[in-house]
Amino acid sequence: MSPIARILTLCLLVVPATAQAKLQVVASVPDLAAIASAIGSEHVDVVCLTSPNQDPHYVDPRPSFMVTLNRADLLVVIGLDLESSWLGRLITNSRNPEIQVGSNGYLEVSSVVERLQVPNTPIDRAMGDIHAGGNPHFLLDPRRARSVAQAIAGRLALLAPNHAKDFNAKLEQLDRQLLIVATEARERFQTLTPGQRQVVAYHQSLAYLLDWLGLTPIATVEPRPGIAPSPSHTALVLRTMRSTKTHTLLQESYYQRGPSETLARLANARLYVFPGGADFEGGESYVERLRKLSQGLFEVLGASNAAVSGD
Ligand SMILES: [Zn+2]
Repeated sequence: MSPIARILTLCLLVVPATAQAKLQVVASVPDLAAIASAIGSEHVDVVCLTSPNQDPHYVDPRPSFMVTLNRADLLVVIGLDLESSWLGRLITNSRNPEIQVGSNGYLEVSSVVERLQVPNTPIDRAMGDIHAGGNPHFLLDPRRARSVAQAIAGRLALLAPNHAKDFNAKLEQLDRQLLIVATEARERFQTLTPGQRQVVAYHQSLAYLLDWLGLTPIATVEPRPGIAPSPSHTALVLRTMRSTKTHTLLQESYYQRGPSETLARLANARLYVFPGGADFEGGESYVERLRKLSQGLFEVLGASNAAVSGD
């Protein structure tokens, strides 16, 4: 055997099997999956439990989830009770000690994010589906996603220290892109008039998007989070849209469109519907998703002047 061949054989013998296997990462929502995949790159296999057109508050668990969770090395979730109604029990039943709450294989990224809408009074059911720890929809803001990416990179490095350098390099790359997309879009939206920057959102899920892009929320189509719009509330939103001259409604694709379409028609407004997350299965990156979302929204808001001229 040549000296090189001998060294190679020796290497293969001393590297434990686990060091060569890819880390099995499971994410609750597509944006998290896309971020984890960008950082973990060739060292991870990422599975996402939901699709961008699925409401992450309410998910019908598939039987395959149990197998997926049982094999996971790392489970990444948003937290703040976004997934608790459907994922909590699955984690306990997965028979996988690695991903239980508090283990190294369980990462709740909300812990590293500066949150909006943290209730300062005790909450009760009458207030709707309020998230007690604050609004969990922070991945609609690339500035907050930077801390999420950092937390994921840190956790991957803890679980696979031999690839820490690669995770860090990917993190730096993603962080640069996030900073660019965050700054460019924010500056671009500043060129709109204050009137064009007024919007009505369907759910309170858009607080972080509006915060990032400097948009002004005028009303929500839902009277309270998770409560379907009533005719009287819809009439109130319509009056508010007319009196404030607001001509844009926004919502994720997984919410019902009927009420927003009616409002758009009656208030001479445009409805912008966008996916609830990156098309992770289709290979879309998180940065691409943010670019597409902000670009589409900018066009709708910018065009609202033409739609309103004469009213
Ligand atoms: Zn919500």
